[in-house]
Amino acid sequence: MFKKILIANRGEIAVRILRTCRELGIQTVTVHSEADADAAHVRLADESHLLGPAPVAQSYLRADRILEIARETGADAIHPGYGLLSENPGFAGACHEAGIVFIGPSPDAIARMGLKVQARAELESIGVPVVPGHGQALSGVDEAREVAARIGYPVMLKASAGGGGIGMERIEGPESLEKAFKLCQGRAKAYFGNGDLYLEKYLDRPRHIEIQVLADAHGSAWQLGERECSIQRRHQKVLEEAPSVALTPELRTRMGEIALRIVRHLGYVNAGTLEFLLDASGEFYFLEMNTRLQVEHPVTELVTGLDLVELQLRVAAGEKLALPDAAGEPRGHAIEVRLTAEDPITFMPAPGTLGEVRWPEGVRVDTWVESGTTLSPHYDPLVAKIIAHGATRQDAVSTLRSALEKVVVTGTKTNLLALMGILDDPDFLQGDYSTQFLATRRV
Ligand code: ADP
Repeated sequence: MFKKILIANRGEIAVRILRTCRELGIQTVTVHSEADADAAHVRLADESHLLGPAPVAQSYLRADRILEIARETGADAIHPGYGLLSENPGFAGACHEAGIVFIGPSPDAIARMGLKVQARAELESIGVPVVPGHGQALSGVDEAREVAARIGYPVMLKASAGGGGIGMERIEGPESLEKAFKLCQGRAKAYFGNGDLYLEKYLDRPRHIEIQVLADAHGSAWQLGERECSIQRRHQKVLEEAPSVALTPELRTRMGEIALRIVRHLGYVNAGTLEFLLDASGEFYFLEMNTRLQVEHPVTELVTGLDLVELQLRVAAGEKLALPDAAGEPRGHAIEVRLTAEDPITFMPAPGTLGEVRWPEGVRVDTWVESGTTLSPHYDPLVAKIIAHGATRQDAVSTLRSALEKVVVTGTKTNLLALMGILDDPDFLQGDYSTQFLATRRV
């Protein structure tokens, strides 16, 4: 096992990774921006080093500086967390070249799954069902018009390099295509440095179901069950649960088999997530693969009893894992909500300095904030993930609902009331919901 790990991230995920490192007796190095000089991930680490000013391009995305710090501090491995450098094949490759283990899959697997249009085409060729659409980047508006007419409106225009729900537009008909194309392309270039766009059929009220996978470097792979993440705002997840009420045992088995087929095809090693959309008729379609730890990984941890970060470290250290085949069989039910600092009317991030902060007992709270923490406009507005586990879905809902009553976060606006509203919603309680849930409600 590693002696010293550098965590190339911030916020709740850096704190989460620190916890497992501490439990395993591994020394930790963190990195930080000027804005994060007093942040929890700095204080909780054995040592922390300054990267630069607040903007991520000058701090957390400085791959060269991070590698230099890893070398100087004698770190054996780098955990990238999620976002930032976690799905950057160049960074993963540079770690290998520097003789430092990148805790994640190979640069080749990251690159092959990184551009969605290529990932779709590659996986379609091995029999994975993909959302009906066009398997190539579009050459321009004219081609988009032809392809959209062939697929049939409504269509979804997407940035191939997209993520976080950015660079995606639903298009109702040919009249709005040109404007959407320009908008999407502009965003794709600005956010991801790659303007490639592609088109998919817009699925009506699908459910977002994803399968957690894990593979070691000795040829063993496991699917660790599904998470349902259909409660979304602007294509970003707000609440996640496992197991999904939408899956029959038969569907669960089929999705798990497809997920493992993808893992074996890629020769994938470490933790990953296969995202699918499931339609009302029970057909499911591959959406994308995330070649890293997901924000919502705690849901799987609570129903499987596994520590996914520990397993990532063991795999990266070359250990042969000895998990049972049924490691992904859920025990009980888990639900996570994402508490974010945002304006409840506009949903715009609401940075600021926190006043009082209090967390409830009896639930898992993955956070990095406390009274006095300043939320910088430069970073993700995620304040905490609150996760409840129960013997049944009903138990998990009621534990989480009472826990949310006891949450206190002052000094900024949050989505706390909206989260309670979801848990009170009769359709949600029935399990009758889709990715359109929040768009059609006032919570
Ligand atoms: P990102 O990488 O930005 O998260 P995804 O491709 O994973 O984007 O999609 C995010 C969400 O957008 C999905 O969970 C779903 O709600 C919605 N979405 C994506 N593609 C489609 C589609 N073809 N039809 C309907 N909804 C879609």
